[in-house]
Amino acid sequence: LEDDPSFWKDNSIQVLIRIRPLNSNEISVQGQKRCVRQDSSQSITWTGHPESRFTFDHVVDEYVSQEELFNVAGVSLVDNCMAGYNSCMFAYGQTGSGKTHTMLGDIEGGTRRHSVNAGITPREKDSRREEKLRFTCKCSFLEIYNEHILDLLEPSSVNLQIREDLRKGVYVENIKEIEVSTARDVIHQLVQGSTNRKVASTNMNRASSRSHSVFTCVIESKWESQGVTHHRFAQLNLVDLAGSERQKTSGAEGERLKEATNINKSLSTLGLVIMNLVSNSNKKSLHIPYRDSKLTFLLQDSLGGNSKTIIIANISPSFSCTLETLSTLKFAQRAK
Ligand code: ADP
Ligand code: MG
Repeated sequence: LEDDPSFWKDNSIQVLIRIRPLNSNEISVQGQKRCVRQDSSQSITWTGHPESRFTFDHVVDEYVSQEELFNVAGVSLVDNCMAGYNSCMFAYGQTGSGKTHTMLGDIEGGTRRHSVNAGITPREKDSRREEKLRFTCKCSFLEIYNEHILDLLEPSSVNLQIREDLRKGVYVENIKEIEVSTARDVIHQLVQGSTNRKVASTNMNRASSRSHSVFTCVIESKWESQGVTHHRFAQLNLVDLAGSERQKTSGAEGERLKEATNINKSLSTLGLVIMNLVSNSNKKSLHIPYRDSKLTFLLQDSLGGNSKTIIIANISPSFSCTLETLSTLKFAQRAK
């Protein structure tokens, strides 16, 4: 299995900016007025004051389809996992910027292999077949809310614990893992888990945009050589992050304050972990604060080392989102 060298270049961390289309509400309020201008397939200008230009590995506009995005970003991650390395994809951005659209898209009613609007996750399973190797794939789906882990495929088990083991590495104790063999199986689990996510947030009277969700596929490859069976495990983690909009801590109390503090903390820890990983690849040796949040602790084995990470920073081009869009571009810039 070969990596696409043009995609990864020397970097194990790739940053992609995805601009969503203006919606009809934004158009009716301020017409076509935008806060960003795309300059090329790698650069984008924020048109506020003062204008600032940013460069990334990729910038894709509203006309890039789900399928094209998958071909750019998804396929290489699957290949990487099948070659035995862990991978992570994060969708970052303010609420309404397109994170869930990118990760899941339209999955409901997904009895066909995938609809044209299916996001990256439902496409992952079917994209590669390798005849000589045998693969098995187990998936799990969890949510991190207020630093607590909820199993989206078994919603009755709450507050699962992260454990670390010399042989297994970092894992979630007692999480439900389901063996899947077709894309349809994966879609079924995604639909189930997403429904459970909505129910959980409604029951707890909070928006699902205030939690992170992590869909994990553990891919085991088996092959025979000289009469011996070899096994290799790799994980693919697809993460739909909590909305990055500035969380108000002033004036908030009780649960709301705790929630806001936890979102700020986990997103800033993620930013710092990635920034330090990028700096370390330039031969610095900075401490990587994986343990400062559940999300980074959970993903410790899939961030850094031989793993590959893609951050898709979703932005709204709307004039009304000027400041949040700048903040997302700055977050993404730090990951470079
Ligand atoms: P988030 O998960 O970041 O809160 P969503 O993914 O729910 O945002 O997107 C908000 C709305 O915008 C949804 O109705 C979604 O279908 C639409 N949308 C987002 N990105 C795109 C895109 N690239 N193309 C078309 N519609 C999009
Ligand atoms: Mg969402």
